[in-house]
Amino acid sequence: MAYYRFPQYLDQSDHAAFGALYEPGHATPFSGIYRCETCGHNAVSTEGHPLPPQNHHQHPSWEAIRWRLIVAAH
Ligand SMILES: [Zn+2]
Repeated sequence: MAYYRFPQYLDQSDHAAFGALYEPGHATPFSGIYRCETCGHNAVSTEGHPLPPQNHHQHPSWEAIRWRLIVAAH
């Protein structure tokens, strides 16, 4: 889960970028906070740099990491 204190600094968005799932190591499309769809683990990644790799964290079931953008920096 990601946390924030000041809601006035965050805007809700239906941008398509939040609907996509990305493989570990994929080039980060937008700087921000990404959430693993499998376990909920969060990571920060910068646009153009690779998203965290498959060995970023382990799942008990050895399922793959899939990253979803949950907070974008603008
Ligand atoms: Zn995970």
